[in-house]
Amino acid sequence: MKHQHESDAHVVVLGAGYAGLRAALQLDRHVRVTLITMDGNFTERVRQHELAAGRPAVTHPLSKLLRTSGIERITARVTGIDASARCVHTDTGVQVGYDRLVYALGSRTAGIADDVPGRVYTAESAAELRKRLIDAPGVLTVVGAGLTGIEMAAEVAETYPDWEVRLRTGGHIAPSISEGGREHIRSFLHSRDVHIEEGQHVTGPEDLDTDVIVWAASMTPNTQIAVAAGLSTDDSNQVLVDSSLRSVSHPEIYVAGDAASVQTAKSGRIRMACATALPLGRQVANSVIKDLQGEEPDTFKFAYQAQCMSLGRHDGLVQFVGADDSPAHRIVTGRLAAMIKEQVVRTTVRTVRMDARYPRVAGLIPGVN
Ligand SMILES: Cc1cc2nc3c(=O)[nH]c(=O)nc-3n(C[C@H](O)[C@H](O)[C@H](O)COP(=O)(O)OP(=O)(O)OC[C@H]3O[C@@H](n4cnc5c(N)ncnc54)[C@H](O)[C@@H]3O)c2cc1C
Repeated sequence: MKHQHESDAHVVVLGAGYAGLRAALQLDRHVRVTLITMDGNFTERVRQHELAAGRPAVTHPLSKLLRTSGIERITARVTGIDASARCVHTDTGVQVGYDRLVYALGSRTAGIADDVPGRVYTAESAAELRKRLIDAPGVLTVVGAGLTGIEMAAEVAETYPDWEVRLRTGGHIAPSISEGGREHIRSFLHSRDVHIEEGQHVTGPEDLDTDVIVWAASMTPNTQIAVAAGLSTDDSNQVLVDSSLRSVSHPEIYVAGDAASVQTAKSGRIRMACATALPLGRQVANSVIKDLQGEEPDTFKFAYQAQCMSLGRHDGLVQFVGADDSPAHRIVTGRLAAMIKEQVVRTTVRTVRMDARYPRVAGLIPGVN
């Protein structure tokens, strides 16, 4: 669909995850937008562990989500950015020039060189993991007991009771959660016969005597392309941005989602999360529009409220937190928490759909920021 734009500028958005898709939809109608992404879908990464446990799909076709927009979509892998020529290179040979670029290529599991077929898996290879799990039972070890590792262990243990599930971490489980919350996680995992192995650092798959490993020890931003283009990054390779999400080294490039190194007064350093990628996507669009209009972009403001996790399909934990993400005493557990978590996850897709249909209204709805 062709739209009358407020500006002739061309904005290219890289990545159609939570941040990039949101940015593209919010920019549409204001400027000409091209969205470059690897495949034709928006993937709900926060449901990858559900995919391992048999959920049929965690993707939504972009053709449907972008149907009413004027966004031009290019399906290709971004291979490079020539910042001086303001041009994006892709693996199909297509090159796309831009006036402003939004870099939102997200993140991936870190600490493991490559998936070893049949033995080592990550959240990204959850569909292959599922095939292995229904093949023949054995011992599965999840490495890393942050929220992603715990959700994965809980989901697998609940769905595949014939598998012996172990959860191994160098520290203690759920370090970002309160003592009461941790107690609940422990008791849920014990009820599903998950062996919790704390204080046992794993350097690599060779350390483990197990049939299957799910590596969930840490995430790393997909910023190798930004680094190669000369953008300034911090010590964890996230792109350094100012308070409006503009690269500190390349003012025509903006960054949102897991790829950005962001701090706010209330929250401190923003962690990689869907919960932060959505507001960052909205903000980055706002900043680009103001920049193109010659106005001063707003400062990104953010305060945490809660961390939500699923424990299988019928239990969960809602951990209320301070503005800086520090855990409070207040928690919700059990079936109610599972319902809240499910609604939170559904709201992420609702937010994107709202952006597509009513971009001006989406930000006014409680919970959709
Ligand atoms: C199993 C799991 C559970 C999680 N649970 C939660 C949760 O409960 N709550 C929460 O807040 N967060 C959760 N997270 C984290 C959350 O998923 C991420 O922080 C979030 O997806 C980041 O959004 P993003 O838009 O920055 O990047 P992504 O969602 O990673 O999107 C990146 C986009 O860039 C595209 N892309 C990447 N490289 C290229 C390339 N070279 N060329 C073209 N396109 C490319 C990808 O295809 C994708 O479209 C979870 C993560 C996992 C893995």
